[in-house]
Amino acid sequence: AKKAGRNAIRFFDPKMQDAINHLVNLDRELRVAIERQQFQLYFQVQVDIAGRPLGAEVLIRWIHPEHGTIFPPTFIPLAEDNGLIFTIGKWVLDMACAQLKAWELEASTRNLKLSINVSAKQFHQADFIKQVKTAIKNHAINPAMLKLELTESMLLDNIEDTIRTMNILKEIGIQFSLDDFGTGYSSLQYLKQLPLTQLKIDKSFVHDIAVDNSDQAIVRTTIVMAQTLNLEVIAEGVETIEQRNVLINSGCTCFQGFLFGQPMPIEQFVDQVKLM
Ligand code: C2E
Ligand code: CA
Ligand code: CA
Ligand code: CA
Repeated sequence: AKKAGRNAIRFFDPKMQDAINHLVNLDRELRVAIERQQFQLYFQVQVDIAGRPLGAEVLIRWIHPEHGTIFPPTFIPLAEDNGLIFTIGKWVLDMACAQLKAWELEASTRNLKLSINVSAKQFHQADFIKQVKTAIKNHAINPAMLKLELTESMLLDNIEDTIRTMNILKEIGIQFSLDDFGTGYSSLQYLKQLPLTQLKIDKSFVHDIAVDNSDQAIVRTTIVMAQTLNLEVIAEGVETIEQRNVLINSGCTCFQGFLFGQPMPIEQFVDQVKLM
């Protein structure tokens, strides 16, 4: 359907040709980016109520030689379309495990966990379990320090398959966070079947939480529900002290957002954590 759409556009809207050329180039450039190792991992701190670091979320950046830093929404969807996400996803997983290993050596980083974003395609790949096991074995890390962030839509895609994969990984100690919670088709029926450790409240609910009563009510309800299901709750996109305070009063125990730290390269991140 997509191919037909592109042809149609080429014939009927010359302006769109630019966009298409750009896409083709982006596709080619993405392959070059992999070859030339232009990807870099950024780390954004996650903190507890007292503001102490619990770990980080790993966020990928494409450091383009001409265009500078390119953010994942620009290239991850394309990488999912053309299959390059498999290579990228494996690389992220491997780098995260290597990082966890390095952190084991220092008292200031030893207890930090890492959360990585897993794309739907990667998760549903036949050898995903093996990928994770291999990365853990290669770097000899404690699997309990690794958290995989999954989204609702990708989990409900094939629920039996999903639960099986998650359970196998859970058995070896891997933890799971449900990312962007509240933006999908959250069915409580499904939610209670998934072996999750954490719910991540989407930043769209956090943004106006200090001023919007319905967002506040949604978040409170989410947290009560998470507690019932024995899940830890983390809020993302926390930018102000007011937001943090409302979240704390609503029962939230973990936080992530610009208020505590921007996503940053590893050296800076480690320096930041040492001061926290
Ligand atoms: P996400 O997992 O929901 O990540 C949160 C996004 O919010 C990140 O954008 C982060 O930089 C941004 N953010 C953090 N704190 C704040 C804040 O206080 N306020 C606001 N407004 N935003 C904040 P980023 O890095 O551009 O990543 C966007 C999305 O790309 C991620 O959304 C995730 O779905 C995807 N992504 C990032 N890294 C990877 C990766 O390694 N693999 C895969 N498959 N997807 C990734
Ligand atoms: Ca995430
Ligand atoms: Ca998110
Ligand atoms: Ca998101």
